[in-house]
Order: sequence, then C-alpha cells, then structure tokens
Amino acid sequence: MKKITYGFAGLGQMGSRMAQRLLKDKGSLRVFDLSPKALADLEGAGAEPAKSLKALVDEADVVFLSLPEPSTVLTVAKDIAAAVTEASRVKYIVDFSTIGPKTAVAASDVLKEHEITYIEAPVSGGTIGAADGTLALMVSCPRQDFDKLEETLKVFGNVFHVGEGYGQAQTLKLANNMLSVCAVVATGEALAMGAKAGISATKMLEVINKSSGRNTATETKYPRAVVPRTFDFGFSTMLAYKDVRLCVDESEGLGVPMMIGATVREMMAITNSCYGPDSDLTCVAKVIEHWSGVEIKG
Ligand code: NAD
Repeated sequence: MKKITYGFAGLGQMGSRMAQRLLKDKGSLRVFDLSPKALADLEGAGAEPAKSLKALVDEADVVFLSLPEPSTVLTVAKDIAAAVTEASRVKYIVDFSTIGPKTAVAASDVLKEHEITYIEAPVSGGTIGAADGTLALMVSCPRQDFDKLEETLKVFGNVFHVGEGYGQAQTLKLANNMLSVCAVVATGEALAMGAKAGISATKMLEVINKSSGRNTATETKYPRAVVPRTFDFGFSTMLAYKDVRLCVDESEGLGVPMMIGATVREMMAITNSCYGPDSDLTCVAKVIEHWSGVEIKG
C-alpha cells in the first residue's frame, strides 16, 4: 500500500504547534504558509516546505488547514479547486479553523466537485493543547470518513464525532467559544470588583479556583496573561471577536435569542477598537480596568 503523505497549511499560533506534533508522529510533513518566517520555522523543525498551495495539494494525500478567517478558508478551498489536476494526490482536506457552519458547507461544496472530501474538525484547547496534543477535536462528516482519519487525528488530542451533518461540528465549536470568551469577560468584571474592594487578584483566583466560580479564564487566562500583565495568552482579539460574532449570527439564524452572547460580542468589538485586532483577547480585562479605575494585579 502506498504510504500516505501529509500536508499542513496555516502555521500560526495553533497550526505551527499541531504541525510539529504531526511531524514527530509521521516522520515527514509538507507545509505551506504565506509567511516566510512561519515556513522557515517549520523547515527548521524538519518539515518540507511546499513552494505553493498547488505544490502542497499535488504532493500530499491529506492536507490539514489552520487558517484565521472564514473568507481565508473559502479562498483557499477555491484556490485548491482551481489548482488540482488528475495528477494531484490530495483526497482529504481536514480543516481545524473556526469558520462557522455556512462557510464549512460552502468549502465542502467547492471541493466536492473535484472529488476532494472536506472534513470540518475545529479544535479547542489553545496553544498549550496544540503543543501537548490535548486538544478537543470536533469532527462532523460521514462515519466512514471519520473511521479512516480517526487514528491520525488522535495525535492532536481527543477526537469526537459530533455527527454526520455538515456544519454540526462548527456549530458546537461556536457554542464552546462563546462560553469560553464569556468567561474571560465575566472573570474580568469579578476581579475588578475584588480589586476595588482591596482583594488581590492572586487571592481571588486561588479561592475561586477551589470554588464554584472557576472556569478556563480563572484557571489559565488570568493567572498566565492578566495578573503578570503580559496579555499574551496566544489567542488574538480579532479571532475571539470573529468566533463570538459567528456564534451570535448563527444563533439568530436558528431563531435562538442570545442576549449574553451579544453582550460578549460587543465586549470583543470594544477591545478590538481599543487595542487592535492583533492584541490578545485578554486585553478585554484592560477595558474593564479602565471603566472601573482599578488594575487586576497582586
Ligand atoms: P494565526 O493568525 O496565528 O495563524 C494563521 C496562519 O495562517 C498564519 O501563519 C498566516 O500566515 C496563515 N495564512 C493566512 N492566510 C493563508 C493562506 N491563504 N495560505 C496559507 N497560510 C495562510 O491563527 P491561530 O491562532 O493559529 O488560529 C487558526 C485557526 O484556529 C483560527 O480559525 C482560530 O479561530 C482557530 N483557533 C485558534 C485557537 C487559539 O488559541 N489561537 C484555539 C482554537 C482554535
């Protein structure tokens, strides 16, 4: 049986770490990114850079994507569709990006015409989960495709088959991220209140993390990126804003009111305006600090 060749496009915060895990597991990997630095870093780790997206899909049977925006994924899907020939090897595009159900369905339709199966597999667990192989992978696709890919996907973490319906995994991922960003906003409000009353953030987090208010923001984001004032958790404001915006839009389309989600979306819109799209999502704490006239520290 011919050995499967793997490819990876989008070597950013998540993709670079996931590609490194795959490279270690498989021994070889073709990679592509628009950023020469991202490409050089993976080449330094032993991957083989492809000179174009076309070269990547010509040389690899299974190509993973970890791209920022829905529009990027759709453009890349169209570029792949335009580039493939009968000699191209690619059969599966497995997409780890968070792009919402509508774009996932659109990307799948574009690629299906060229007999390429698009698999939506958004991930959760951040850069630490990507590096450690402890991500949650949410996959929706026909069961037979899932069975073919499951073993390989396990290198990235825990793999869940959400269902066979296109868009289902993306819907679940949007729900998860709305909850996750909500926790960042709500934790900022709680810690600002404590700071104003003279309680150190470290003490509050110590107690909350043994109490019923604990969440991913109290356990990781605030201790790692807000209290030390580094604001470098590794997830950009632009991407967090995109995820909550997609979630609220999707929910509205389904006829489900999302009042909390809409407020969280506006908090990310404000953070985006104040600190820019490339700032870390934890900068929402600075917005809350500014409004309350305190610093979350100590
Ligand atoms: P990132 O911005 O750090 O990385 C994106 C990479 O894609 C960059 O290296 C960029 O150069 C590359 N790229 C952009 N357009 C390209 C193209 N046309 N062809 C090839 N490469 C291209 O983003 P990230 O934080 O790694 O997130 C990637 C995806 O994963 C997003 O959809 C995000 O929502 C999702 N996600 C991120 C996190 C996180 O904690 N950062 C967690 C879970 C899911």
